[in-house]
Amino acid sequence: MSSTEEESKKRAKTGDNVLISCRPVDDLHLHLRDGDIMQSLAQHIPPYVKRAIVMPNLVPPVINTDMALAYRERIMKALPAESDFQPLMTLYLTDNTTGDEIRKAKETGQIFAVKLYPAGATTNSDSGVTDISKCKGALEAMAEVGMPLLVHGEVTDSDVDFFERERVFIERHMRTIVANHPNLKVVMEHITTAAAVEFVRSCGSNVAATITCQHLIHNRNAIFEKGLRPHKYCLPILKTEADRQALLSAIQSGSTKFFMGTDSAPHPRHRKEASCCSAGCYTMHASLELYATVFRAAGCIQHLPAFVGENGANFYGLKPNEGRVDIVQEPWSIPDSYPLGDTEVVPLNAGEEMSLRAKRQS
Ligand SMILES: [Zn+2]
Repeated sequence: MSSTEEESKKRAKTGDNVLISCRPVDDLHLHLRDGDIMQSLAQHIPPYVKRAIVMPNLVPPVINTDMALAYRERIMKALPAESDFQPLMTLYLTDNTTGDEIRKAKETGQIFAVKLYPAGATTNSDSGVTDISKCKGALEAMAEVGMPLLVHGEVTDSDVDFFERERVFIERHMRTIVANHPNLKVVMEHITTAAAVEFVRSCGSNVAATITCQHLIHNRNAIFEKGLRPHKYCLPILKTEADRQALLSAIQSGSTKFFMGTDSAPHPRHRKEASCCSAGCYTMHASLELYATVFRAAGCIQHLPAFVGENGANFYGLKPNEGRVDIVQEPWSIPDSYPLGDTEVVPLNAGEEMSLRAKRQS
């Protein structure tokens, strides 16, 4: 048993309502956007989120060190005075990213990873990589300085079935990337399939994965329940129940290869409730409560503290956060919407009853 597990058991005994305690969490995949929307989101980061890997898919994308540092400054300025949130910045990999740019980024101490979007895979990914072999120099430099490659693992070929794009990406690209760069740390982001769970498990300790709350909670039926549900449309898209069960088995195993990454990706309501709906679920406002709920239902709440506060930090080579967050039994409901710039965002599972609250204690 880890020291955190022992401590959280002790704490659970001291307060009747406390289900379990954990460290302030690391969200290893978060979209904070930019401009007015970022201003709203910065005010809305729950106190229990201490650090987040911030995605670089802005318009224009964050493709170099200077852009990442400027983006970090904008986020820091937008945070409330009392916040101790730390944004961990990333670069957007392009066909032209050089090894020198990677080394420069590493030296700043503010840039922690590089994101690979296959061109056209998701929101603002048009400048993404067209051919991974063009990135050899960058990937070698990343392996050298210990900077993880974060992969949006879906092919974009229009002849590949939408629900098969992750599985096909693993066969066509992931195996080659991992085989060609045995010393590169690789995070397969927001995994959704049994194939991805199996792949990550089969690799060495340099390969890990983030899992979102929506992919643990819902299967693809949720998108079509009594009509089309735009707020449950994200990329990679929700998959089958068998795939969801495989994700649950990953968290139930307690493997350190899997950790929190919400992929919270808000869009204004009018961009979701539209004839061409944008992809993304908004979960940042209640990420820990959503994960705790699904871990409890899956009978593995004892693995929650490591999943949200240790596995990711250890993989990135960061010291786990100090402090304590209690998960308490307390009823509340997810609001129908939150302000977002001059408009609003509808969160995942809006209006639903919850029974757990996460409270930062120190
Ligand atoms: Zn994302």
